[in-house]
Amino acid sequence: MEKIILIKYGELTTKKNNRKTFINLLEKNVKNILKNYDIKITTTLVRMFIEVDKKYIDEVVIKLQKVFGIHSIVVAFKTNNNIDDIKQAIVEILKNKNFKTFKIETKRANKNFEIPSMEFSRQIGAFVLQKFACKVDVHSPDLLLKIEIRENTYISTNEIKALGGYPVGIQGKGLLMLSGGIDSPVAGYLALKRGVDLECLYFESPPHTSSNAKNKVITLAKKLNNYSGNIKLHILPFTKLQEEIYKNVPDNYMITILRRMMYRIAHKLVLKNNLKVIINGESIGQVASQTLTSMQVINAVTNLPIIRPVATLDKLEIIDIAKKIDTYNTSILPYEDCCTIFLPKHPVINPSLDKCLLYEQKLNYEKLIDECINNIETVTLNDDKNFQDLL
Ligand code: ATP
Ligand code: MG
Repeated sequence: MEKIILIKYGELTTKKNNRKTFINLLEKNVKNILKNYDIKITTTLVRMFIEVDKKYIDEVVIKLQKVFGIHSIVVAFKTNNNIDDIKQAIVEILKNKNFKTFKIETKRANKNFEIPSMEFSRQIGAFVLQKFACKVDVHSPDLLLKIEIRENTYISTNEIKALGGYPVGIQGKGLLMLSGGIDSPVAGYLALKRGVDLECLYFESPPHTSSNAKNKVITLAKKLNNYSGNIKLHILPFTKLQEEIYKNVPDNYMITILRRMMYRIAHKLVLKNNLKVIINGESIGQVASQTLTSMQVINAVTNLPIIRPVATLDKLEIIDIAKKIDTYNTSILPYEDCCTIFLPKHPVINPSLDKCLLYEQKLNYEKLIDECINNIETVTLNDDKNFQDLL
């Protein structure tokens, strides 16, 4: 019997006017993630059907579980709409299953099939009772058998919950400030989930930060890229500008000004690369530079929207997601970030904008910022060769 993968769209179905655009992009993303498999995709407004050689079904299902815009995945047996053939298929499917109680759910999308859903469930239920030693339990059955009657009939016993969200890219691209910490990869993941594709920006300060720190960020970007396939990582040499700050700015304002510079750079890169927003892993109150006053003062250098997907999450909630997306173990590797070197003892928690402007007058930052941007090294993560070269 033929097996087929059915994809259910979830939240997409609420997007009435844009539905086609969403589904087309989802199809493109699915094809991209499955490009190494010989597949046949049939896409309709309610389902996507994927046919692939039986031996690859499990692998393909695992890959599909990383595609945003899919609500659930069903591996179904496909048969025609002839009742005897459906019954025979059900016997085949159930004979290897271990169950004492069951329930049948029928969805009759094809109204040319003359038996209504409830009636068909009853008929098939009676048939199963005849063939197998079992009972009906409509509340918590051991086995839920679903029958979808469309142009063909699809029979399944297991629906795998997928990620939901929107197809990556539907919202254009944002620039993720990606550090080696726990928070920013999670922020990137959550932005991808809402359909925002990413370019990533990492500020590195060699020799104060090591190549281990850089490789850690490349690994994190690669992990995020599993959900996109299009991500680029920009590695920006930040040392000169950072040293200029440390030489000229009072200790307690160093981090505030450092972060204002990061935002200025991110702002320029967004405009240069035609992106739409800045995304980062700031979380309210987590450190001195993330109090609301700090955010206000730091944010003042850009009028771009800043998306902070983890702003309202507790650290433990962020860690839960980091573990789920497999970035946690990489993030906790103990390599210095540019924000953690030369950390002042008492960073200001209520910075004043006037003071920032005063201190910044001493810095020749416009020129240094342009120099940083001109010396960016860009890594395309779906190009394995390029990635290997960097490690
Ligand atoms: P942690 O999990 O240790 O908090 P973090 O990356 O969140 O790590 P923070 O000091 O809280 O570190 O920084 C706040 C945000 O600023 C980060 O989430 C990230 O978006 C951005 N950021 C910090 N350092 C860098 C860096 N070196 N390159 C790019 N972005 C950075
Ligand atoms: Mg943080």
